[in-house]
Amino acid sequence: MVFTIISYIMYNTIENPDLKMLSELTLAKDQADKANRAKTDFLASMSHEIRTPLNAIVGLSQLAHESNDINSIKEDTEDILLASQNLLDIVNGIMDINELDANNVDLLEGKYNIKEVLEELSRMTRFRIGNKDIKLRCSFDDNLPDYLFGDRDKVKRIMSNLLTNAVKYTDNGFVDFIVESKNINDICELRILVKDTGKGISSENIDSIFNKFYREDMDKDSDISGTGLGLSITKGLVELMDGKITVDSTLNLGSTFIVNINQKIVYATEN
Ligand code: ADP
Repeated sequence: MVFTIISYIMYNTIENPDLKMLSELTLAKDQADKANRAKTDFLASMSHEIRTPLNAIVGLSQLAHESNDINSIKEDTEDILLASQNLLDIVNGIMDINELDANNVDLLEGKYNIKEVLEELSRMTRFRIGNKDIKLRCSFDDNLPDYLFGDRDKVKRIMSNLLTNAVKYTDNGFVDFIVESKNINDICELRILVKDTGKGISSENIDSIFNKFYREDMDKDSDISGTGLGLSITKGLVELMDGKITVDSTLNLGSTFIVNINQKIVYATEN
């Protein structure tokens, strides 16, 4: 009797390769189905995301071309610029995520002027705010070194993704862009905060927002353009620099994203 029971248990566990293989196959199929669904959703939203700014560019260029009024031409070209920037962000996002997925991203490090980068980002954010009732408040640490050594474009992209989201998901109030720096020997510990008074993120969804293609509340946000790639790329880039990204958010009150990354300081005597 005991022997029969043991044989039966063994047959249904370690001794039965068919069962093990079957459960592995089911798992692999589930994963393949999930990946396939994500790809289909992505392609559907992508055609919408690409077509919208492209249609705007074509339509507004036509209007600008036919108009003789310098003011309306200026307005149209500003909208064309914004739509082109959106389109470029989407294309860059797809390329970035592909390369991050393939572990194919290297840091291209060099000396750069951090204050110049922060100024460019503030200008870009003001431009993105446009007519929205949002005030951008910037606060950059006096301690910030003039020159740092690191991957300028990727550091800029991390901040630009967070600022773009802060503006996108906020209807009115404030966007705070705060950069603090703690300098220890030749290392600058950057603490970047992007804080908004926007729609916030519900606590049950907060862990998912860094996942590829994830967009909270797809239906409600369908008028807000996005691919669900920005935060996944941002996290990938932060981790590539051995940094950390965290978020704190309250639904309907706003969100705060915090990034910690270290960069080398380049002193005036160095080149
Ligand atoms: P996208 O903005 O293209 O949808 P992201 O990966 O940048 O993709 O963001 C994923 C999701 O996280 C967004 O769809 C949005 O629901 C949520 N989210 C990101 N940033 C904010 C923010 N500042 N405020 C509220 N929700 C946000």
